Amino acid sequence: MIQIKENIETWGNDFEDISIEQIYEQYQIAKNFFESKEDLQIRIILCSNKEELKFFTGLKEITESTTGRAIISENIIVIYTPKAIEQNTPKKKENFRGILTHEMIHLFYKKNNYPQKIQLLNEGIASYVQWVVVNKKEFNEEVNLYEINLFQEYSKEIYKKGLYLINFIIKNFGKKKLIDFLEKIKNSSDDKIEKTFKEFFIIDLKGGIKNDR
Ligand SMILES: [Zn+2]
Repeated sequence: MIQIKENIETWGNDFEDISIEQIYEQYQIAKNFFESKEDLQIRIILCSNKEELKFFTGLKEITESTTGRAIISENIIVIYTPKAIEQNTPKKKENFRGILTHEMIHLFYKKNNYPQKIQLLNEGIASYVQWVVVNKKEFNEEVNLYEINLFQEYSKEIYKKGLYLINFIIKNFGKKKLIDFLEKIKNSSDDKIEKTFKEFFIIDLKGGIKNDR
């Protein structure tokens, strides 16, 4: 069955209690975060079980931390239904909205041409919107930002580190400054990105590329 609202098309065998209005609401949250004027034509595939998720994501392995995936080149989001989240991962079905918005953020991040290779920002923003904006969680932990490496390679801990970094930036400098920064680094070299980061947020992150490569 396919349900359509505006630019969002959603396919699923079983929509459970997900409404297309709710999906569209999550889309608006992602769009508003980036203050995007343009809409994205998005297709969402709801998966009721592991086999479906594996088939539609094309992932070789589905672990219990896999809840979905954004196929950014096609503007497609493959995601577990709320029930399937609860059956196949340690997360609760209430996490569905946050996870969906997380994946939508990746599509906007790509559309805006922000640097894909900085996964810390990409996953950090997606996780920030998921937990702080959608799930209304507050993060007040002290984090040693100097330990964070902007160019760190993808790993499991990148989500938490990225979230803390984005949380810090938004709390201290506001979201507009974060967006201004992303706009500024669109076509920059790694060295320039690091320099711009320091200029914008006055944090000297751990050596970045120089120490890590
Ligand atoms: Zn992500």
